[in-house]
Amino acid sequence: MIRKIYINNLVLKLYSQLPRIKYPLDLNEVLSLLPNCKLMSYQKFADINHCSVNDVIALCQSKSGCTHYDVETNRYLILVNLAETSNYGRRRWTIAHEIGHIVCGHHILSAVDKIAENSFARINNQDYEIEVDYFVATLLSPLPLFKAFEIQSARDIQNTFGLSAEASDIRLKEYKIWLRNHRKTAWENDIVNVVKYKTLQ
Ligand SMILES: [Zn+2]
Repeated sequence: MIRKIYINNLVLKLYSQLPRIKYPLDLNEVLSLLPNCKLMSYQKFADINHCSVNDVIALCQSKSGCTHYDVETNRYLILVNLAETSNYGRRRWTIAHEIGHIVCGHHILSAVDKIAENSFARINNQDYEIEVDYFVATLLSPLPLFKAFEIQSARDIQNTFGLSAEASDIRLKEYKIWLRNHRKTAWENDIVNVVKYKTLQ
């Protein structure tokens, strides 16, 4: 079960904290809203720790990116493999994906899970991944803005929002379904208004 309304509001909250908004969204500005969170490449992490990039891949159990959460200090270190994410859209998606796990509170939920084994609130990892992908798509390319940006094709999505070609195809399909089914909500108005206002900053 994805917490769509919760995530929509998380994105709105981040948008209202950003000093300005322009697309493709500047992920460094999003990161600067999270003072307990640092971004580093696999390559730099390997240098500092005198190990190989392959060691970092093994440590992260991912070729593209991962996040280390220090429960005691409540600090996050996002690691991104620059070699594996040389495509602009893919790298952005990977970074936004790791930001998503952090702001959705997945690391904290996992830590609680490990302590309270019988917790009813347990969410399995597959649910986290689906929820995070919903977050990333909403953060990078909010559907209520598509009309104003005159989005007609996957290529338009790629050019405007900086998604990869593959992610843009998926997003276009989601947009078509959304156009057929959605009812206008307060969130939709709010996101359009905050973007209008922040674009002028
Ligand atoms: Zn993930």
